[in-house]
Amino acid sequence: MLIINCPYCGPRDQCEFTNGGEAHVTRPKNPENISDQMWAEYVFFRSNPKGIYYERWVHSHGCKKWFNSVRDTSTDEIIKVYKIIDKKPLPKEFKNKIKTPSGEPKVGSGNFTVKK
Ligand SMILES: [Zn+2]
Repeated sequence: MLIINCPYCGPRDQCEFTNGGEAHVTRPKNPENISDQMWAEYVFFRSNPKGIYYERWVHSHGCKKWFNSVRDTSTDEIIKVYKIIDKKPLPKEFKNKIKTPSGEPKVGSGNFTVKK
């Protein structure tokens, strides 16, 4: 069970929220001028990192407001929650907060978020 700290209401159980997928996905500026493949990549392709992941949530059984979070996908720990209007935090801000559950190295094991 996750406890999610809604930036408007405070800590609440995960069952009150709905995940909205990856955050900071930018819609193409001229969709009529891009190829079908580029449009399909915008609509369907999302990153699947091990480590830092920016995602959207809505407090659907509370204030009904959208917000973003930063979650470590290897531990499911929500590291930061911020409002939609707030600036995207940089990954280096969370560099020392990433933990691996079984002590595997940060590089390797399919972790492409860490540069070699
Ligand atoms: Zn709320």
